[in-house]
Amino acid sequence: MSFKNKVVIVTGASSGIGAAAAKMFSDEGARVVMVGRNEKKLSAVAARCASPLVIRADVSKDDDAKRIINETVKKFGQIDVLVNNAGLTINNGGLLGSDMMETFDAIMNINLRAVVHLTSLAAPHLIKTKGNIVNVSSIAGTIAPIGPGLAAYYVSKAGMNHFTVCAAAELGVHGVRVNTVSPGPVRTDFFENAKSAIDIDTLRPMTLLDRVSEPEEIADVILFLTSDRAKGITGSNYVNDNGMTIKH
Ligand code: NDP
Repeated sequence: MSFKNKVVIVTGASSGIGAAAAKMFSDEGARVVMVGRNEKKLSAVAARCASPLVIRADVSKDDDAKRIINETVKKFGQIDVLVNNAGLTINNGGLLGSDMMETFDAIMNINLRAVVHLTSLAAPHLIKTKGNIVNVSSIAGTIAPIGPGLAAYYVSKAGMNHFTVCAAAELGVHGVRVNTVSPGPVRTDFFENAKSAIDIDTLRPMTLLDRVSEPEEIADVILFLTSDRAKGITGSNYVNDNGMTIKH
């Protein structure tokens, strides 16, 4: 799967799935644009990629989103692939907590609004290259919550799934594909970043295959969906969850 000279933006490239995808795109010859907020982590991942463009940015800030697209086009002149991977959850008291709306807005702004914004900003450039988009969702977008206090995160991913279908429908006539990858549990910094006490291995028995994924397994699917081998695939939701959805 060669991505030679393709310009690939990966948001949330400073750790986990995004970091694995950035490295794999780079190994396949892409000119990678790595987006994240944590400078130290971004630098560590960038050191493993071939001359990436590193953009320290918060995807939920409108000016930062515009800067991501503008700096990419200024440096490379084109955009071939957008991977909307940046995302998080925030632990709060859920619907019964006092800061439900603050949490809801923060999660929706990063996990969904930023995806809509970046898609809209990148679309004219993707139309020129007949490029494509992969949105990193979650099986949380389709299953009932595995615990309390998760409504905002689950709703953000359900919204992302349907946004993918809407964007695919709107951009398909211009030759631009849009797909979703929905992981189950993956060994990343996700729960640590959420200040959650959940140990990823406690989710293992919830999967049919009794395992959690490594970030590279999700990155593999991202690379496939963004490659020419998936030229007929658009509006799809590719589940990679060790069978957790069907067991659930
Ligand atoms: P990590 O916490 O390891 O990575 C999340 C990435 O998102 C980091 O690079 C982080 O960068 C970035 N990010 C978060 N908020 C922002 C922001 N406002 N602006 C820019 N970057 C941001 O977790 P994962 O790799 O696991 O998560 C990647 C995606 O996978 C997420 O969308 C998540 O919902 C999804 N997912 C993860 C699962 C899992 O079990 N791990 C399961 C299903 C889906 P920084 O800290 O530098 O800002």
